[in-house]
Amino acid sequence: MPELPEIETIRRGLERETVGRRVKSVDVPQARAVHRNGSRKAFQARLEGVKIKSVDRRALLLVFTLDSGDLLVADIGATGRLQRTTPKDEVTKDTQVVVSFTQGGQLRMADPEGTAEAFVTTPDALLEEVPELGELGLDPVASPVSWTAFAQSLVNHRTDKLKPLLLDQRFVVGLGGLYADEILHDAGLRPDREVSTISTMEIRRLYRSLVEILHEATKHHGTSTDEHPFTDLQGKEGSYQDELQVWGRDGQPCRRCRQTITRQRSGGRVTYWCPSCQV
Ligand SMILES: [Zn+2]
Repeated sequence: MPELPEIETIRRGLERETVGRRVKSVDVPQARAVHRNGSRKAFQARLEGVKIKSVDRRALLLVFTLDSGDLLVADIGATGRLQRTTPKDEVTKDTQVVVSFTQGGQLRMADPEGTAEAFVTTPDALLEEVPELGELGLDPVASPVSWTAFAQSLVNHRTDKLKPLLLDQRFVVGLGGLYADEILHDAGLRPDREVSTISTMEIRRLYRSLVEILHEATKHHGTSTDEHPFTDLQGKEGSYQDELQVWGRDGQPCRRCRQTITRQRSGGRVTYWCPSCQV
């Protein structure tokens, strides 16, 4: 599942590649992908002829601001992808939406599972469409989070355990299992530690690890492995997989303490961690 560093990688690519371009035409091979707009026609009508002014990210949603005042929202979900293509590139079977620009090729959304979606809405109606956006937590990549803001937001979660807390979008946005495990290992904290038991020093470590790992992984254009597939707009893989300390490394020695990394399953969720140096 793409997490914050992967979606931010796509956003930066879209900012470079689509801002200032005008939409010539829109094809929708899979109408289900635009169901929120009611029909293919309704979706196309609000996009054809408009120009893209900016591309932002709200948690894991990509939000294009259009010169019509509308927003185009793309949610690639767990298995979707966005790609820059030319009209000559073969249209794959899983292609859902094709946006052609007046100058400069196409943007395609595709998803083998068919769950990715796109819709056009207004800034006022966005929250109604996606109510979760009303209670999003910290986003350290979108805007710097101060140490005090971080410590303050922990106060409301004293009885939570650390791993579920990191996965809670109301605390911090965009983390899935991979980066949550890497952050906890970097901070030297057990995934099942309760917030109320961690010291000020440990909170500082958690804060630093959260910010550093998200920035580092974004700099590497995300993580691409068989279990965590990801390609950017150009179809290129990220390189953060070479930096992973615990995720997918069960049975191998911990790079910090040489003890064996464990893979644990609880409640349908898999956690990789080092029982020796995460306390
Ligand atoms: Zn270790």
